[in-house]
Amino acid sequence: MTVAICFACGEFKVGAFTPCPHCGAEPVSLDEQAHSLALTDHYLTPEGLAQVQQRASNGLPVDIDPEFYEQLLQTLREEQQRKPW
Ligand SMILES: [Zn+2]
Repeated sequence: MTVAICFACGEFKVGAFTPCPHCGAEPVSLDEQAHSLALTDHYLTPEGLAQVQQRASNGLPVDIDPEFYEQLLQTLREEQQRKPW
């Protein structure tokens, strides 16, 4: 089970790419998906998640390391290009 934080409203949810139960936002674009992946317990400690949640719910921007963000985008692009066979 992946603990994630909604890229739109900052509430906790389960799974990076699931629709948010609070605001209904679902990551569709690569940017949104990379953002969502960065805000999961795969990459953040429980303390880190709590900090992000606090910031987001106070309307503050969430800092994601640009290099890390690029890596996530790259991973997602490769996933998309993978052929089903
Ligand atoms: Zn939300």
